[in-house]
Amino acid sequence: MLRILTLFGTRPEVIKLVSVIRALESRADRFSATTICSGQHTTLLRPFLERLGMRVDRDLNVMRQAQGPSEVAARVLQALDPLFAEIRPDLLLVQGDTTTAMAGALAGFHRKVPVGHVEAGLRSGDSSSPFPEEVNRRLITQLASYHFAATRGNVETLVREGVDPKRIALTGNPGVDALQDVLAHDKPSRAIEDLVHTHRERRLLVLTTHRREAFGPRMEEHMRVLRRFVEAREDVVMVFPVHPNPSVTDASRTILGDCSRVHLLPPLDHPDFVYLLSRAWLIVSDSGGVQEEVATLGKPLLILRDNTERPEVIEAGLGRLVGDCPEHLGQVLEEIDTDGAWLRSAGSRPNPFGDGQSGRHIADAIERFLGREGSDG
Ligand code: UDP
Repeated sequence: MLRILTLFGTRPEVIKLVSVIRALESRADRFSATTICSGQHTTLLRPFLERLGMRVDRDLNVMRQAQGPSEVAARVLQALDPLFAEIRPDLLLVQGDTTTAMAGALAGFHRKVPVGHVEAGLRSGDSSSPFPEEVNRRLITQLASYHFAATRGNVETLVREGVDPKRIALTGNPGVDALQDVLAHDKPSRAIEDLVHTHRERRLLVLTTHRREAFGPRMEEHMRVLRRFVEAREDVVMVFPVHPNPSVTDASRTILGDCSRVHLLPPLDHPDFVYLLSRAWLIVSDSGGVQEEVATLGKPLLILRDNTERPEVIEAGLGRLVGDCPEHLGQVLEEIDTDGAWLRSAGSRPNPFGDGQSGRHIADAIERFLGREGSDG
């Protein structure tokens, strides 16, 4: 029996690990699966855990008001160490690029617990963007023993950096599993359906923004550009589920709070958010996960960043980078408004991020990897 610890602490980690955890739990004869929540997010996370019926075996409760990455990392390191001593896992699974994942991988390394990295091999090439995630994911690559890559490009990146190809599995991104699951099984709430219905004659623009490196003037200027765009067009409505970070809530209230045809909403549960995306005319976002989701939904996305670690979304013709300066965002919005050619060309293409079975592929790869190590003695 292989003891697998799965660590998560933020909304995207839960979304992207649920199918992996389910796949491990469905093989109870081979895996004993334990879930650990760092608590890096709390209010954002709770509705997801409840809706998904996800069990949290250990909660590290690291969240504090106005916390910085160093404090989160320190508390995760400190809390995990005795847990490793107690549980003696065969593998620690971490996902993505959060401070929780990075600190978890380091804690595993210190205790000689092999680390498996889900969503390995993403690189923006710029250590200041996304910050601190780009460096987190590079560090995790150094610390991990097994790498679960979403795309062939991610595999190639890892190999170029010297990772042993025998320790890499091409599995797709389990975020695709989560989205397909929502599309197949979940209904949006009445409130979000009503909001979309009220504006059914208008073009729906969906905004999300929460990246740390954009806090302050840059994020505020993006909001002003979007406000001017919406105010000048009676037939456009913007819906913005606002991330709870005070840098985002304060700016959104000040700049967009009194604008008719702009709806500021609290963070949405996944089925409501996916419904909103699926009804969008255009999505503007600096999120990583949303870049993958538009590939499944065939929706056009303006990426509020000056680089992306997911070039597949641009290659698929669904995404355009507009985050380098606010004027660029304004220009592209004007262009899209007058010439809809790009919007019309964005449609359903083969999904570069996976086949919706990534949880199963990752569980298969874990069996292969750990079985091989065992038999190698
Ligand atoms: N998401 C959600 N509700 C929202 C906004 C986002 O469920 O109000 C989901 C979204 O569908 C995606 C994930 O959260 O799966 C992305 O998380 P986020 O943008 O916070 O993080 P990132 O992907 O940039 O790390």
